[in-house]
Amino acid sequence: FITVGVLALQGAFSEHLQLLKQASQSLSKYTTWKFIEVRDVKALSMCDALIIPGGESTTMSLVAERSGLLEPLREFVKVYRKPTWGTCAGMILLAEEANRTKKGGQELIGGLDVRVRRNHFGSQTESFSTPLDLPFLGDNKPFYGFFIRAPVVEHVLPPTTPASAMAANTAETIAAPSKAPIDDIAASFTSPDEVRVLGRLPVSKLTTAPGDGKLAEGRIVAVEQGNCLGTSFHPELGTDVRMHKWWLEGVMEKVERKRMLERMSNNM
Ligand code: GLN
Repeated sequence: FITVGVLALQGAFSEHLQLLKQASQSLSKYTTWKFIEVRDVKALSMCDALIIPGGESTTMSLVAERSGLLEPLREFVKVYRKPTWGTCAGMILLAEEANRTKKGGQELIGGLDVRVRRNHFGSQTESFSTPLDLPFLGDNKPFYGFFIRAPVVEHVLPPTTPASAMAANTAETIAAPSKAPIDDIAASFTSPDEVRVLGRLPVSKLTTAPGDGKLAEGRIVAVEQGNCLGTSFHPELGTDVRMHKWWLEGVMEKVERKRMLERMSNNM
């Protein structure tokens, strides 16, 4: 079976669990799913994949730090490279960079080579929902995204090439004086996959979005890089299971591939 956790320190975790259960019912009957709330390291260690929900990212990272989960979460994402999906505040935590808000910054987990802008549209009253075109869902039907004090991806960070990642792994480069901070080398080694933009807000005027739609048009609201997925919006607040189903299909594929490789290396 495959165990999927939802980080349950704060925020909209029960809604995710609900939709995960619903979505899994329409998947192959040969896979048994277990969905669990994650509040400590023990629960995290049982997970094959993880969702980091929306909520308040500063609070969430503080609680994670106090629960001793911050480093294990970084390992989960960047060392074990297990499938991880961050929605809204969750996407902020998965970003390598985020702007500081008035209340200050927060510790990030990282994994997505992007810079996010928190509260891009403004305060709670500037929340909105809008139909999104998400081609990867494959059925040409719009997906309603709920944006609540939502972040956007401001830009994709400069690519960290597989070649530099390989170089970083040789003794020679480690011995040679390097100007790159060690974090950059580690990031290039652990995130050789490219960032793929999966969704943007429509360019046409969004009547429900603040600022007459100007803040919204064309903004990046869904990105994927290797094992990480980030969405600005909350797919768990509606009743549409398509995003959860699509993500679980990807999880299934990645987990099965990993288990096959493990079996092969055990037999060698
Ligand atoms: N604005 C919140 C933050 O910065 C995110 C909002 C959300 O997750 N709905 O953490």
